[in-house]
Amino acid sequence: MTTGPLSMRLCHLYPDHLNIYADRGNIAVCQRRLEWRGLSLEVVEVGLGDPIPADCHLYYLGGGQDRDQALVAEDLERKADPLRQAAEDGAVVLGVCGGYQLLGRGYAGSDGRRLPGIGLLDVETTAGAGRLVGDVVLDATLSGQTRTVVGYENHAGRTHLGPGCTPLGRLRRGHGNNGEDGCEGAVAGHSVGTYMHGPLLPKNPWLADTLLGWALAHAGHTERLAPLDDQLEKSAHAAAAARAGKKR
Ligand code: GLN
Repeated sequence: MTTGPLSMRLCHLYPDHLNIYADRGNIAVCQRRLEWRGLSLEVVEVGLGDPIPADCHLYYLGGGQDRDQALVAEDLERKADPLRQAAEDGAVVLGVCGGYQLLGRGYAGSDGRRLPGIGLLDVETTAGAGRLVGDVVLDATLSGQTRTVVGYENHAGRTHLGPGCTPLGRLRRGHGNNGEDGCEGAVAGHSVGTYMHGPLLPKNPWLADTLLGWALAHAGHTERLAPLDDQLEKSAHAAAAARAGKKR
């Protein structure tokens, strides 16, 4: 259901394959945080074999098991040029976990098979021994602002960043990209990758509004987003951070 004039379009890539840990909830948050402001969102779902629309303002890929990623990787490679072009034109791209890995140069999974990524993010991922699982709290920096962001991770992949991107943030809790360098996620321009499920956006209203603000600006809406009453979101954020703080 949309309200008001169309404000922006969101392309949800592989909703049937990359949707582990309720990552679809990130789409609902984008929809509601715009509707609560009298703005509207059109969601375009793109699956295997579907053309990728060039006129969306935010492109989203959720997470998935190795087998789900294997099902979409070659198809995503065929969509790489229009997706990279959209990002170069200013569209926001958000990839979560498996989606993050496929936005990179490639992912060598637990079976040793290397899946091609689209190289939008200068990262390379290889599955390691054991999985990196648990709560995550990090100091994330976007648009010159630093805020804590909370989430949950469960991945075999160990991701290492090249010079073409910077980490989303530094960890306070959790394993992050590779369990070694104390960082989580990757950012290049308005393309963001992260390992954080939960889903990510409901408990991180600052992050949600930062990404939506970028996407709306790309759609030609330059007015600042009106503040919302985020008491519930902030309580959920605080509860997740407290829970993470209690665990080693
Ligand atoms: N299959 C990938 C890994 O294990 C991504 C997992 C995920 O999306 N949660 O690293």
